[in-house]
Amino acid sequence: MNASPEPSFRQSVDMMFTRAVALLDLPPGLEEKIRVCNATYTVRFGVRLRGQIQTFTGYRSVHSEHMEPVKGGIRYSLGVNQDEVEALAALMTYKCALVEAPFGGSKGGLCIDPRQYEEHELERITRRFAYELAKRDLINPSQNVPAPDMGTGEREMAWIADQYRRMNTTDINSQACVTGKPLNAGGIQGRVEATGRGVQYALQEFFRHPEDIAAANMTGTLDGKRVIVQGLGNVGYHAAQFLSTENGSIITGIIEHDGALVNPKGMNVDAVRAHILETHGVKGCSEGEYIANGPSVLENECDILIPAALEGVINLKNAGNVKAPLIIEAANGPITAGGDEILRKKGTVIIPDMYANAGGVTVSYFEWVKNLSHIRFGRMQRRQEEARHLLLVEELRRISSESGHATELSGDFISKYLHGAGELELVRSGLEDTMRSAYQAMREVWHGRDDVNDLRVAAYLVSIGRVASSYRAKGL
Ligand code: NAD
Repeated sequence: MNASPEPSFRQSVDMMFTRAVALLDLPPGLEEKIRVCNATYTVRFGVRLRGQIQTFTGYRSVHSEHMEPVKGGIRYSLGVNQDEVEALAALMTYKCALVEAPFGGSKGGLCIDPRQYEEHELERITRRFAYELAKRDLINPSQNVPAPDMGTGEREMAWIADQYRRMNTTDINSQACVTGKPLNAGGIQGRVEATGRGVQYALQEFFRHPEDIAAANMTGTLDGKRVIVQGLGNVGYHAAQFLSTENGSIITGIIEHDGALVNPKGMNVDAVRAHILETHGVKGCSEGEYIANGPSVLENECDILIPAALEGVINLKNAGNVKAPLIIEAANGPITAGGDEILRKKGTVIIPDMYANAGGVTVSYFEWVKNLSHIRFGRMQRRQEEARHLLLVEELRRISSESGHATELSGDFISKYLHGAGELELVRSGLEDTMRSAYQAMREVWHGRDDVNDLRVAAYLVSIGRVASSYRAKGL
């Protein structure tokens, strides 16, 4: 058993950065410039609630401004602190570079348990927080663009966008000040599912490469693979739902904050989600056997483990007992640096967070572009595309009838071929392309360099290389 103490989340990210950067030949000054967090703003503000003033503490950290705007979610949780937002901001820098989203890295958080407040109270708190950030340009379409994270979603993003608009009434691009908004408030189709969808695309890409499957001591495809997911929130729910309904994977374990459910035959993810929404936990759900000690299920036998809740859940204490040969980090920082080392020594393949959950920021990028261009994706081309396809179908029919061997095209083919892509299809296509290209960039380094033995270091090398080139080009 390793007796060294567990590092903090930020230290863990730093240690992983150090391990990777040692393999690059960067000038020491540049290495340090990329490593450090540029600025973290702490705000304490009061809101009159329930007859008295309550004080809240929030943060917005900017890790790197090699590209602007900087981008990163806003988290609502009692665990939020400076260390955490700085670690998450750093991960955003590397994530954006890896998936070629033209942003620097940032992250924000409010120290609050959102479940303790009514909706109208959360709106007042969110608007006040947004006001404090916007007046310092820490929310701004060209400088700093937040998004949802743990404890926040479309509703909070709509309040933030509206607050920014009220403060900047003549800014024609005000909608682009935040992403993850509802569709009717400047959002984009496919943003809610994006991070979970990205996890699915990442796994699909992994299973396209026999060499990578073999590295995890696995065989076959996603079909029939046993999956355990921790956290059935936005990311975990969508990932589990898509894997079970579209890829044939079996969800054998679901770990939530109040315990876990296990069922070797697999669970209906929608039914578990409905139970959680109704009762705020998994206890009492008939889909599986209830286990009070939720985290112990991380150690159960399975093929794929998807931590999709918190950071640091796989660490020095339990990493040695984790049996999954493949872990995909849907959450940010679920494996500590110490846990990572133990797992690597065992041969576990880890698809790292900066890649695995990049679907969110990728579709956020599409939303930001949509807001700046003030037009829905596909609006100009869709009918024209359909008309051209129809032309071809009619020509094929004509040739076929004139040839004397009339063969009819199948109805299924015709309806699929004639259907022009709408916004959701375009977003999914852009996301899939992004996840596939980024994976290929990582695996090239993973398999191409003798001194690289894991995907995390490969991901860092790709990202740090891109950030370094960007700083060099700017002439820092
Ligand atoms: P969420 O708030 O929608 O869901 C989190 C889920 O985890 C909830 O169901 C919650 O009950 C559960 N949970 C909380 N504490 C737990 C515990 N101790 N054990 C097990 N489950 C617990 O959050 P989310 O948006 O799905 O984010 C989850 C993770 O994904 C975070 O690390 C976040 O940074 C990361 N992420 C989210 C996005 C996004 O688009 N939302 C994008 C990239 C990364």
